[in-house]
Amino acid sequence: MSDQRVYNFSAGPSMLPLSALERAGSEITNYRGCGMSVMEMSHRSKVFLQIFQETQDKLRRLMQVPDGYQILFLQTGASGQFSMVPLNLIGRTGKADYAVTGNFAGLAFQEAKKYGQANLAASSQDAGFSYIPAQDQLKLDSQASYFYYCANNTIYGTEWPYLPQTGEVPLVCDMSSNILSAPVDVSKYGVIFAGAQKNMAPAGLTVVIIREDLAGHHLPFTPLMMEYQTMIDKQSMYNTPPCWCIYMLGLTLDWVEANGGLEGMERRKRLRAGMLYDALDGSRLFRCHAEKGSRSGMNVTFRTGSEELDAKFVSQAAQAGFVNLKGHRKVGGMRASIYNAMPVEGVEKLCDFIRAFDKAN
Ligand SMILES: *Cc1c(COP(=O)(O)O)cnc(C)c1O
Repeated sequence: MSDQRVYNFSAGPSMLPLSALERAGSEITNYRGCGMSVMEMSHRSKVFLQIFQETQDKLRRLMQVPDGYQILFLQTGASGQFSMVPLNLIGRTGKADYAVTGNFAGLAFQEAKKYGQANLAASSQDAGFSYIPAQDQLKLDSQASYFYYCANNTIYGTEWPYLPQTGEVPLVCDMSSNILSAPVDVSKYGVIFAGAQKNMAPAGLTVVIIREDLAGHHLPFTPLMMEYQTMIDKQSMYNTPPCWCIYMLGLTLDWVEANGGLEGMERRKRLRAGMLYDALDGSRLFRCHAEKGSRSGMNVTFRTGSEELDAKFVSQAAQAGFVNLKGHRKVGGMRASIYNAMPVEGVEKLCDFIRAFDKAN
């Protein structure tokens, strides 16, 4: 089975560690002797509660989530957080700062305007979202309820190279596409959230890490299911949580732990991205979308300048076993998503393919 797998450069849902998939496969009809699948058991059962607790503990350990922070396992995707964040947080002062560095941050910004005064603290739209604004370009309001940014712009292929300094204003960060790819100091954040389908688990789970004191201040009309406090009080089980995805997250975290934790993930990230950008920079044909200094270690966006040649590259790559390299329609060209589960060897081989294509065309 495993030797027929392709190198899958999909932006999400995306590759999961093979060991996690194989483990899930081996347990799929009978989870560790209990006679049923994780998909078939009550979320209140002892067996599942143990899976839930262990998964949360593993995440807390790996990310070194400090006391005073809650880890929530929710649904409605990262996009659900575009509403949940302002509904719960903007009421403190009525306003919030947003850095719009790509598609998803833009959507979050538009959504927040419904619930308060959302200010544009920075934007890189003037250059096709090809860069991350510098600290001294951020227009910060010390009265903002929070400062919102997206740590890695999945579509445009940029990643914040620094932690924004906002004084007392809490940071809210969409880490959907780079969570678990390097250590982060959670204590510097108010809220971290991520849709699981990039670096953690199948689609359907949204992980939220929230400083406890930020919950409980939601706007009065906030739907019950969208109050952080509800989910904190009910330990993410106000209703049925995404059980299977939580189980899969646990298996992914086992793999992360066995591969050097977040330091190990960061080493591999640098190795993969370094090789790929070197191959592209060293070519005659290819240009990267993101500016140096803002380049993502997770989503590498590039193009030849000719749509025909881009299409030829994507189709020949697929024939050679490198699939899902077509860029997002907003950027065009190509995008190689090289998340945690992408083996270094997959990128090495893609680089060989890029060099051969460059020579032949
Ligand atoms: C994929 C992605 C989203 C959207 O996630 P959904 O779970 O589909 O809502 C939001 N932000 C970022 C950075 C993403 O990569």
